[in-house]
Amino acid sequence: MDFSIPDDLAELVTSYRSFLDREARPLEDRYRDRLQDDVFDEEMREAGAALRRRSAELGFYGAHMPEDVGGWGLSTLGTALLVEAGAATGLRFASYTLGPPNPEAPTPILMGLPEHLRDKHVVPLVKGQTTMCFALTEPEAGSDAQSIQTTAVLDGDAWVLNGRKHFITNGAEADVALVFAVTDRDKRADGGITAFLVARDVPGFSVGKRQRNLAGETNQAELVFDDCRVPVENVVGEVGFGFQQAMRFLNGGRAAIGALCVGIAQHLIDLCVEQANARQAFGRPIGKNQAVQWMVADSAVEVHAARLMTHHLAWLVDSGQYPIAQSSMVKLHNTEMVGRVADRAVQVFGGMGLVSEGPVEWIYRWVRMLRVVEGTSEIQRVVIARSLGL
Ligand SMILES: Cc1cc2nc3c(=O)[nH]c(=O)nc-3n(C[C@H](O)[C@H](O)[C@H](O)COP(=O)(O)OP(=O)(O)OC[C@H]3O[C@@H](n4cnc5c(N)ncnc54)[C@H](O)[C@@H]3O)c2cc1C
Repeated sequence: MDFSIPDDLAELVTSYRSFLDREARPLEDRYRDRLQDDVFDEEMREAGAALRRRSAELGFYGAHMPEDVGGWGLSTLGTALLVEAGAATGLRFASYTLGPPNPEAPTPILMGLPEHLRDKHVVPLVKGQTTMCFALTEPEAGSDAQSIQTTAVLDGDAWVLNGRKHFITNGAEADVALVFAVTDRDKRADGGITAFLVARDVPGFSVGKRQRNLAGETNQAELVFDDCRVPVENVVGEVGFGFQQAMRFLNGGRAAIGALCVGIAQHLIDLCVEQANARQAFGRPIGKNQAVQWMVADSAVEVHAARLMTHHLAWLVDSGQYPIAQSSMVKLHNTEMVGRVADRAVQVFGGMGLVSEGPVEWIYRWVRMLRVVEGTSEIQRVVIARSLGL
């Protein structure tokens, strides 16, 4: 068994890190005050979009996409290493640099489009010129995704969509949306849900209210479909098999979200060590107290385990397997792990852990969302229990 990271991937991570230091860190410094107030305005969004295009020019952005649409066909392990490295910088702008719009994103599904639509929609995504969103969740159906209500009815050369999505990340800005709708009410998940690529400018498609989340971000939005006509060629994959594609996408992204948690947790540990050495109480650094050391040591053990689980999952996927249970284990374990690490980090920082001028307060809020998005912890346990025969 060889646990070493291949040289080419290690070099890739080094050059990605130096790109972030050179081009993302200055943005973080420039907008520090606004970030501290949870403000992410138009100017910052534009700066993020420019950084995204720059990352695409260098090849990092769409690295995990196949070569025939402009990616590098980077392995799942390579992608996970990049995601971890980006998150470990603690730079919020780093989220713009891997895509499209993040490595868990549904773009591999888009390889199911006819070739001319791939050139039209997927290539610009990989180049960072456009962005997309993944629209499955609805007010009536989140965990129980097969109960979505949005319908698509075939009418001549188009499918007519009606319904409403909510909580859609990047929904207000995306140039294209991957939308899941019911095409056969009787079949539902079993052949009755279809995936559609919907361009932003199609009549009948509009953005509803923007939704502000726990981390103060406003990048979730409602999407509204009101007799929205989508050309038949914009069906992604086979009619009726959208639910399977959505589940495959969510499963395929687990190594990336696992790596994201590992990177953030590593960043928190680095911050804790620095703080524990620098902060004095009772005439000595707080890190001289065993109670503080143990908090950081417990976090280090958990991050190590999470990293091994993530690399193992990436190895399974890269070996051509479709590891449903292990994917759910990584999602469950790592999102809960980073919550515990963030909680300890707040404790190590004391009062400075609770105010926005300190470096950990926003992370504590942000990582809380990871236990809900892309399938809650409870749903991961359901999947794992099912794999055990329960
Ligand atoms: C910040 C953010 C970003 C998001 N981005 C996107 C996006 O880009 N695209 C998209 O399509 N969706 C997105 N979502 C939606 C997200 O995936 C859902 O919120 C999530 O799947 C949970 O669904 P729900 O909110 O409807 O909760 P519900 O399904 O109503 O669940 C509520 C509670 O009941 C529990 N529960 C439900 N069923 C069971 C069960 N069988 N066993 C045990 N417990 C159960 C859940 O675990 C949870 O604790 C986003 C959500 C947020 C908050």
